[in-house]
Amino acid sequence: MPSKNKKMSTNSHLMLNRRQLLGSAATGAAAIGVSAMPSWAQEQGSDGVVDVLLIGGGIMSSTLGVLLSQLEPTWKIEMIERLDDVAMESSNGWNNAGTGHSALAELNYSPMDAKGNVNITKAIEINEWFQVTRQFLSHQIDMGVLKNPRSFINSTPHMSFVWGDANTEFLAKRYEALKASPLFAGMQFSNDHAQIAKWVPLMMEGRDPNQKLAVTWSPLGTDVNFGEITRQYVAHLKSQQQFTLRTSSEVEDIVKNDDGTWSVSYTNTKDGSSTMVKAKFVFLGAGGGALPLLQMSGIPEGDAYAGFPVGGSFLVCDNPEIVDQHLAKAYGQAETGAPPMSVPHLDTRVFDGKRHILFGPFATFSTKFLKEGSLFDLPASVTLENIWPMLQVGTNEFNLVQYLAGQLMMSDEDRLNALKVYFPNAKAEDWRYWQAGQRVQIIKNDAEKGGILKLGTEIVASEDRTIAALLGASPGASTAAPIMLDVLKKVFPDKLKTPEWQERVHAIVPSYGQKLNENPDMLAKEWAATEERLQLAIASPAMDPAAYSKPAAPAGEVKMAPGLAL
Ligand SMILES: Cc1cc2nc3c(=O)[nH]c(=O)nc-3n(C[C@H](O)[C@H](O)[C@H](O)COP(=O)(O)OP(=O)(O)OC[C@H]3O[C@@H](n4cnc5c(N)ncnc54)[C@H](O)[C@@H]3O)c2cc1C
Repeated sequence: MPSKNKKMSTNSHLMLNRRQLLGSAATGAAAIGVSAMPSWAQEQGSDGVVDVLLIGGGIMSSTLGVLLSQLEPTWKIEMIERLDDVAMESSNGWNNAGTGHSALAELNYSPMDAKGNVNITKAIEINEWFQVTRQFLSHQIDMGVLKNPRSFINSTPHMSFVWGDANTEFLAKRYEALKASPLFAGMQFSNDHAQIAKWVPLMMEGRDPNQKLAVTWSPLGTDVNFGEITRQYVAHLKSQQQFTLRTSSEVEDIVKNDDGTWSVSYTNTKDGSSTMVKAKFVFLGAGGGALPLLQMSGIPEGDAYAGFPVGGSFLVCDNPEIVDQHLAKAYGQAETGAPPMSVPHLDTRVFDGKRHILFGPFATFSTKFLKEGSLFDLPASVTLENIWPMLQVGTNEFNLVQYLAGQLMMSDEDRLNALKVYFPNAKAEDWRYWQAGQRVQIIKNDAEKGGILKLGTEIVASEDRTIAALLGASPGASTAAPIMLDVLKKVFPDKLKTPEWQERVHAIVPSYGQKLNENPDMLAKEWAATEERLQLAIASPAMDPAAYSKPAAPAGEVKMAPGLAL
């Protein structure tokens, strides 16, 4: 059981951590009785209080590390990672789909309402976030933090690809709605087989010429290697005197001290030795491992949450004769009644300058919260506070349960048949199966429903703003920069208001605080600047700002715009 509101006491040794309880390499700790720092943790030097402790070496922690090092160069920052290197979990290029999510193709971000109108509110929000990401990445190129854009971002058109009466009608409506927003300039619509074959020949060869199809194609799409970005961020941080990276170090306890700092204990996974570090601010950027760490901290804000792990797997094609014929990320439509994570896509991926195609994701299930996690992760996260919401979600989200069961029963042949719907002439011998990363979806206490499944991300911070966790995983790595800017808003609101931070934040993200959807001139300027810095191969579309004199500002919240696109 996770601990409750723990306070550090120096001479009591009554706490067992979860590793000791479960005898596993699981992350997290469970306290029984009165909690205190375990005797095995050796405290670092008394002056060793770090300003910021980042737990986890993925895209989220490393983005926050880079951001804070640029805002406060004198701050002491430490990063603790349980594996032997950074970027080995979800942020690793092979463990995710590498889509720079901009809602150019992902249909779940623009649901149709009961009246048959397509609501693009969420699509605009997602696209705005990616504009922040483009600017953040460009700034890091300017600062020498990131090297050679080709190593981590590549122009890859994004396409929505649907068939059948209802879906083609929906796509046409979506296209019309998006045309009103400058963020989606340059998007083309077609239901002409010959035109579609020019964009994605592999998807058309061998297809029934009478099949009713519709696609949208956007040149603004990208494929992103988030693992490479993480590695380059951390390599840069390591070159700074104020930064320390500790790998093979698993955090096992987090305790609040009377002076408001946190004492964090971690174990060296190679030799079993333990160390304790004191920090003024702790960021739990541990991906799937963030929930157990949040529970471990004992802050009441964490009580409302539970997690539900869903993994993803892909079919991968490395055959150059095939991969050279496909340059797109082509997203389909989820089957009626299926959850948004079931949207299949046929994706160009680029690793070390070499192209591949991935098809998927197929959902997988394990009780692990991390790919390299423990089977005890899920059971150990169940508490008296979150068991009821979990049970409610199990009952209310029957579609998800049904979908997962169907996915788990798929054979190799079933997966090949699913691929053939997108790539009719695909042959089994050209494809290999790949298990990608785990995502832990958020289950949250809800007064009305008991518990709800939240498909986006959530920043959970303590009232005194000394600790914050990032839960959930969608839209994911693409939004690390805007999400970390939101972390600043939440935990350093006063500093963020100072002229110094404002100036620095605007140097990093020039459009910070502005809605580019409502400012076509600024959008065109930032597109041009980021396209040049990121050396994107497909030019941004020409934009006529006059055409957007009445910017699309869709009214109303989307009740359930699924934030999840794997
Ligand atoms: C199948 C799949 C497809 C996806 N596709 C996309 C996509 O196309 N586009 C997109 O933008 N996003 C995508 N995502 C989401 C994206 O990968 C994640 O949102 C992102 O990588 C999360 O980054 P992170 O830094 O939070 O977590 P991670 O990269 O998982 O890093 C967390 C780190 O914390 C470490 N850690 C955990 N517990 C501890 C502990 N106790 N002590 C020390 N270290 C610890 C872990 O070892 C890990 O290295 C996808 C995810 C999956 C699974």
